[in-house]
Amino acid sequence: MGFDPAFKSASNQFPTDFRARNWDICPMCFISTSSANNSTNNHTYTPPSNVVCLPLTNQLEALLTIIRDKDTNRGDFIFYSDRIIRLLVEEGLNHLPVVEKKVITPTGCEFTGVSFKGKICGVSIMRAGEAMEQGLRECCRSVRIGKILIQRDEETAQPKLYYAKLPPGIENRYVLLLDPMLATGGSAIKAIEVLLSYGVKEDKILFLNLIAAPEGIQAVTSKFSQLKIITSFIDQGLDEKKFIIPGLGDFGKFVF
Ligand code: URA
Repeated sequence: MGFDPAFKSASNQFPTDFRARNWDICPMCFISTSSANNSTNNHTYTPPSNVVCLPLTNQLEALLTIIRDKDTNRGDFIFYSDRIIRLLVEEGLNHLPVVEKKVITPTGCEFTGVSFKGKICGVSIMRAGEAMEQGLRECCRSVRIGKILIQRDEETAQPKLYYAKLPPGIENRYVLLLDPMLATGGSAIKAIEVLLSYGVKEDKILFLNLIAAPEGIQAVTSKFSQLKIITSFIDQGLDEKKFIIPGLGDFGKFVF
């Protein structure tokens, strides 16, 4: 079983509270066995090593529960999904490389710290991905954000690129690719192919999403092993209409 280093450190850091409560934790997805007994949680799926799942803290579990609840109103859905998006962006930023930087503090002392090594940008997969742009802007002031529109081609039934407006110099940037729901992976794969065709290096892509289906993770990671997927929860799978189960329904319906 391949563990991502970030995953291991997160595992060491966060589930202490669960352990104190004598709950058993799935080491990959941080789901307690008590909730895994509920068949809607995917306790058994082991994602590849380039997938980072946010540690399932009490806070994250509570936020996810609100946005999954069919009785949650639109205002709360937007507010609480924004909270999770912030956590995803913060985790994404943890994966960017840094270089040493010395500064002088107001006390006249020298402090040796770090600064980010490269430039970043965001790219949202329209339309649902646009709902993640604000969370990115709140963490990264004046970040450039591009957009990609992909839709199913009626004739071929394959995802087709309809529109791409990407920041200049994207080939030299780390790209935070935004799409809240990773279902089959079709749009994500197409969007990643577009980024690569613009010269973005695969290992500079961080794909952020709220909820991922194992099918989507498998589809994306079997084609692209160097990028990272950062998700807040891996669900059970897809239904016959390709909705994520248990999921939260149509994300775009709540937001737009
Ligand atoms: N997109 C959504 O909004 N929801 C799903 O469950 C799958 C894709």
